[in-house]
Amino acid sequence: MDGSRAWRVFLLGGLVALGVYVLLPYGPFRDAFYASVGLSGAAASFLVAARLRGTVGLAWALMGLGLVGTATGDLMWLYYDHIAGVDPFPSPADIAYLLQYPFVTAALLLLARHRRTPGDRGALLDSAIVTAGLLLPYWVLLIDPNIGGHESTFDQLVALAYPLADVVLLAGLVRLLSVSGARTPSFRLLTLAMISLLTGDVIFISTEGAEVFGLPLGDTPFLMSYVLWGTAALHPSAQDLLSTSSDGVPFFTTRRLLTLMAVVLLAPGTMAAQLVSGFELSAWPVTITSAVLFVLVVARMSDLLHRLQDQARMLDEVARTDTLTGLPNRRTLDAQLAREYARAERDGTPLCLAMVDLDRFKLFNDTHGHQAGDLLLTGAATAWSLVLGGQDMLARYGGEEFVLVMPGREPADAEALLAAMRAATPQEQTFSAGLALWDGRERPSDLLHRADLALYAAKEAGRDRVVRASGSRPGPPSRART
Ligand code: GH3
Ligand code: MG
Ligand code: MG
Repeated sequence: MDGSRAWRVFLLGGLVALGVYVLLPYGPFRDAFYASVGLSGAAASFLVAARLRGTVGLAWALMGLGLVGTATGDLMWLYYDHIAGVDPFPSPADIAYLLQYPFVTAALLLLARHRRTPGDRGALLDSAIVTAGLLLPYWVLLIDPNIGGHESTFDQLVALAYPLADVVLLAGLVRLLSVSGARTPSFRLLTLAMISLLTGDVIFISTEGAEVFGLPLGDTPFLMSYVLWGTAALHPSAQDLLSTSSDGVPFFTTRRLLTLMAVVLLAPGTMAAQLVSGFELSAWPVTITSAVLFVLVVARMSDLLHRLQDQARMLDEVARTDTLTGLPNRRTLDAQLAREYARAERDGTPLCLAMVDLDRFKLFNDTHGHQAGDLLLTGAATAWSLVLGGQDMLARYGGEEFVLVMPGREPADAEALLAAMRAATPQEQTFSAGLALWDGRERPSDLLHRADLALYAAKEAGRDRVVRASGSRPGPPSRART
């Protein structure tokens, strides 16, 4: 049978088996039927483990071993109840049942480890918050009432082992759900199988397996978990348990925030419920859980803040830099020019600006290709930057045009710097430049315009040269030049 049909048959057969089980009369046959469903879940897990190997295969093998543990427990239960005629709970069958938890938890943690991505940094803290929060109702409802009052140490240990093993399994499940990774059908079925198992345990611990209306309804979550487990194994997506999510890594979803909020509210909620219903207060467990949750939430907050700060720094860097050349971009140029204006005005120092444009760059692109053109732009930006002084700033203005701001340099000095840049231009390429000296009044756009006009003049005059801009329109004398 091919994989696309096998899981459907298993699911349908399993659901029918579940219905049949509930209606079967109490007796060894019913228990053998029950164990056989568990064993078929184990067989499906081993089948897929043998086919897949690797990490996913190992995870399925561990889950298969866990199911063998429960099915063995089921068979031992049958023996104690129907053949030996002793009460099967607690009994050595519980040791077999309990073996399931370490195997399955190991499988869940293995999957979580391989499904996580660098974006899942806060996920460990999230799972710690959820586990710490859920531990409280487990403690109040299932663990604390089970301490003491048992006939033997073995009985006591078994009574406590189940809720404790549940908490461990729950921690593994929460950890797996906290990391990103594709929510494939197999993954969802597996999650449902765990939830069924945990639900079955809670019912069993609270009712000790008592029947409801003469029907073994309390067992159905366990049977359901076997069926879901086997279906998950046989589903074609069983091999994709390590696939990453296609929607990318969520930063922090609303669902996650609401889950964390609900879990954190469990502590005051427990106290409120006990106060309202007049139950004995679990003051210490609530106090300890609240303290642990506060610390974890603050740690999570600080992690998020650090992440936000990192991203803000990165965005700032991206917004100020030209992607191709790594030079400051036009936005940075505008801001820097305003600062240099203020400085030149305050100190009365000259402020020169040059508009630089590679010659016949279109031809270079056409001859050598666009990639080579990009390399020339980056190469020129690097080579020019090496001859600049600490005060000078070279920015990419757009295309193959650059603006050089030279605070403190007289025009002759600026021309010498531009000559050094021309000599450093890679691949025997040349550039033309228009040089303008700020007159102390004109706006940055006017200064740039004059430099641009001078650049055109340089092109007109035959390229590969620097032309000084003519003076600005007459006005009050510049403080910068005095
Ligand atoms: P001139 O000497 O008159 O300046 O001629 P030119 O060919 O350099 O100038 P023109 O304005 O005709 O062409 C500029 C070319 O620059 C055209 C455009 O495809 C190219 N260009 C603009 N930005 C980039 C870029 O980021 N990478 C590459 N490879 N080419 C670019
Ligand atoms: Mg050009
Ligand atoms: Mg140009």
